[in-house]
Amino acid sequence: MSLNGTPIRPRSSAPAARAIALATAIAVGAAGGGPTLTPARAQDSVTRGMPVIRDAEIEQLLRDYAQPVLRAAGLAKQNVRVVVLSDRSFNAFVMDGRHIFINAGALFDAKTPNEIIGVFAHETGHLAGGHLQRLREQLATAQTASIVALLAGIGAAVAGARGGAGGADIGAAAILAPQSAIMRTVLAYVRTQEDQADHAGVKFLNATGQSPKGMVELFKRLSNEVLFNSRYIDPYMQTHPMPADRVAALEVLAKASPYWDRKDPPELQLRHDLMRAKLSGFLERPDTVARRYPASDHSLPARYAHAISTYRHSDLRQAITQIDGLIQAQPNNPYFYELKGQALLEGGHAGEAVAPLRQAAHLSQSNPLIEILLAQALNATNNPKMAEESVGLLRTAISREPEAPEAYAQLAMAYGRKGDLANADLASAQAAFARGDVKTARQLATRAKTRLPIGSPAWVRADDIVNVKPNNNARTQ
Ligand SMILES: [Zn+2]
Repeated sequence: MSLNGTPIRPRSSAPAARAIALATAIAVGAAGGGPTLTPARAQDSVTRGMPVIRDAEIEQLLRDYAQPVLRAAGLAKQNVRVVVLSDRSFNAFVMDGRHIFINAGALFDAKTPNEIIGVFAHETGHLAGGHLQRLREQLATAQTASIVALLAGIGAAVAGARGGAGGADIGAAAILAPQSAIMRTVLAYVRTQEDQADHAGVKFLNATGQSPKGMVELFKRLSNEVLFNSRYIDPYMQTHPMPADRVAALEVLAKASPYWDRKDPPELQLRHDLMRAKLSGFLERPDTVARRYPASDHSLPARYAHAISTYRHSDLRQAITQIDGLIQAQPNNPYFYELKGQALLEGGHAGEAVAPLRQAAHLSQSNPLIEILLAQALNATNNPKMAEESVGLLRTAISREPEAPEAYAQLAMAYGRKGDLANADLASAQAAFARGDVKTARQLATRAKTRLPIGSPAWVRADDIVNVKPNNNARTQ
């Protein structure tokens, strides 16, 4: 598991704060119709700079949750990606037509796969309804109306000021009143979209033979939390206004489903529990992990959480013993081998990390995130013979994960080991570019061009980076 391509370390609250700001991005970005929402050429540009959690296991599970629903919505071919944000609060939202964002907090709070599948069904309802585009249009109209109202208000204020001190207040009220009326209109519009997304969500769940119970229970819990704790403002409530009557309407609709009582398959529930254990092990303090998974709990998820917590906070060798126990319990689970490799690599034992990471790559059918980790281990062995294999792995991984800065950085290192300085420069330029550091990217690409045969594919790529317009930086590739 990694955060923005680098292994997760205990960190400050800074990324979480950024993500909270992001929860409101839909409203802000939509109002401006600005570049935040402009579809970028590179598929993942939208996530650049976000505190994203990358994890092969979690991403595969969420794909398995989302795919049937997306297929039922006729969106299977849109390549909609689920992006996990490192944020403890409960939230999920869409910002464009190709991504569903979900906070780690939501994954953590949901006790069953069905709850998250319900959230995806609702978000897919927004995607299928083209809600973002319509909301943007609505807000653009509202903005124009509010400017007209503002001007009218200023006119009234000026007239009021002429009339004496009391009149000035009437003028100020005249500015505010039409704007709040417009806000009410927009909120009513959002509310309609929420109802439509609920309806569509239940329809997609029915079409896939899944229960809408999780969706209802989750929304109910959220609306109760708001009722009982007025100080607690959940960002989910801001992006998805959820008055009690909306939940009630959803419940009536959902209970009519023939699949209301259908449970998640046990193997899916186990994968869900393993995901929650992983998030706990990586993101929570050891004492919290120990409280959540007491010593009396010998379940696989509890052992997973403990093994992760042990490797991150105390003893590597003890952690390896615990991970070996997990591997023994599920010898075909690629992610237990991945964990072993990651623990060994981060513990400074790159040579030992290679074999388990090879096994993880093999069992996961060459998952690019795992292959990047394997290449990192190969590089860290300092064995020039491994550099060739590392280059091959990284080039394949990058073709599937074109914006992973860590992959380019590792590729630069591998080329460096091979003595191929031209390609090392180009990969370093691409790493800087993927990080959003366009200035450094252009400098490195300029140097790479002097070392590459003019007109070769690598030279063309370097040339593309050199020619990126600085004011267009983070969004073009
Ligand atoms: Zn919604």
